[in-house]
Amino acid sequence: MHFLVTAGPTREHIDPVRFLSNRSTGKMGFAVAAAALERGHRVTLVAGPVSLAAPPGAKRLDVVSAQDMLGAVRENLPCADALVMTAAVADFRPKSASTAKLKKSAMAGVIELVPNPDILGSIAPIKEGRIFMGFAAETGAPEKEALRKLSSKGLDFICANDVTREGAGFALDTNIVTVYGKDGFREDLPLMSKMDIARRLVSIVEGAAAGRGL
Ligand code: C5P
Repeated sequence: MHFLVTAGPTREHIDPVRFLSNRSTGKMGFAVAAAALERGHRVTLVAGPVSLAAPPGAKRLDVVSAQDMLGAVRENLPCADALVMTAAVADFRPKSASTAKLKKSAMAGVIELVPNPDILGSIAPIKEGRIFMGFAAETGAPEKEALRKLSSKGLDFICANDVTREGAGFALDTNIVTVYGKDGFREDLPLMSKMDIARRLVSIVEGAAAGRGL
């Protein structure tokens, strides 16, 4: 199979030296890429700004903003069988990015924000038979939000985690995840390394793909 994986945060520039972003480090996505390669799959890894080395064998595409990430996903989806969107895409971007560094006095006012495109929502019309897996990082019990995102984003699977739990969330090498499927599938993965979680996620995708003859 060919896995298209997104990882890391996106960065939305305010001016050449300042940006809006989030705490994602890319570890979960890079682990999914490594786990898919381990299984002999081809991997295209679309990475936001992160300081990780891509696993050998992955085709890495570096992007900065949500709009760049959407472009890279759209361009690479046609040759993919599965999309795993671990990226923490910034929800908003400044309405306009200044090409010159803004003076402090200009920063004191309100920076006007506009919503970023929803990448999964934008590509849903070209999904065809592909397997789409998303992530929902929440603070507090994630089930309700995860199930809402599973259905509103047209996903086959969503991996939910409560980032406030010890051992779960950003920057760590471990996570605690529950995977929900659109057909009622549910699997609770206890505190595990991100690499072991990634291996299980790849096998869940492989199972769904086999069911579709991919
Ligand atoms: O940020 P949120 O919790 O809505 O993310 C849920 C899923 O949607 C994740 O898989 C994320 O990569 C994806 N997403 C997206 N486009 C956005 C925001 C999130 O595809 N603009």
